[in-house]
Amino acid sequence: MTSRHAPLSHRFALAALALALATPALARTANADLSAENYTPSSSEHLVQATLWFQVSAEARALCIQSFALARLMLDQDLALKTKEKRAVVVDVDETVLDNSPYEARLVEKNINYPTGWRDWIDEASAIPIPGALEFLKYAHSKGVRVFYVTNRKEEEKEGTRKNLIAAGFPDVSNETLLMRVDPKSSSKEPRRMAIAKNHRISLLVGDNLNDFADVFEKKNIADRMAAVDKLQAEFGKRFIVIPNPMYGDWEAAVFNYDWKGTDAQRARQRRQALRLN
Ligand SMILES: [Mg+2]
Repeated sequence: MTSRHAPLSHRFALAALALALATPALARTANADLSAENYTPSSSEHLVQATLWFQVSAEARALCIQSFALARLMLDQDLALKTKEKRAVVVDVDETVLDNSPYEARLVEKNINYPTGWRDWIDEASAIPIPGALEFLKYAHSKGVRVFYVTNRKEEEKEGTRKNLIAAGFPDVSNETLLMRVDPKSSSKEPRRMAIAKNHRISLLVGDNLNDFADVFEKKNIADRMAAVDKLQAEFGKRFIVIPNPMYGDWEAAVFNYDWKGTDAQRARQRRQALRLN
């Protein structure tokens, strides 16, 4: 989720608060008095509906299962082709194979914003798999396909990430296959994809964010992201398999023009301004 491009200044400013708020388990706090007369919106109130959809809608579950079922079909098609190349599938981690929605719920509950508490969540290593992800990756692995986990979590978050992936039962998790973000200046995954492609045929990629697939989507505005999807539409549902994430992503960053310095009120206004009314 560091794919959210939170600015460094933001992270440092919130570091102390993060420590103060770090608790081992979610507990209702004074910020979360939900009685009707005392209800006050959280500074992460905008996440309520999206997180709720992700957690309680069986439709979300069905969409994830559908995406990985399609991934398996496409992998089978690729496996039917004769090649001497070693095959690989490339998956993102956050909201592609691991479900961090409890962290989003904590942002709402504790009246805080990302990235406060993110590192603690990673170190808990308790995220459960996205529906269908485990079955698909185990299937790919059973067919001799390498699984590469390409994430924009940071190098210092590698141990917690590795622990979580292994605890959740994911296959082929190693130093060779778990590729963290190493360049603090760039969130692009292209150099990592290129390194994998040197020795592998990448059968398909799975992600919740368009930057999980190709560099052409990086740092584009809303209209240009849409246009880039149309241009590459032949890839979607074939080599590119998208998992739904209504909680965050570059789609949200594009609404803020990739500028995270705004106040809660400014961001609320930018969200409203981006709504299409006809
Ligand atoms: Mg992701």
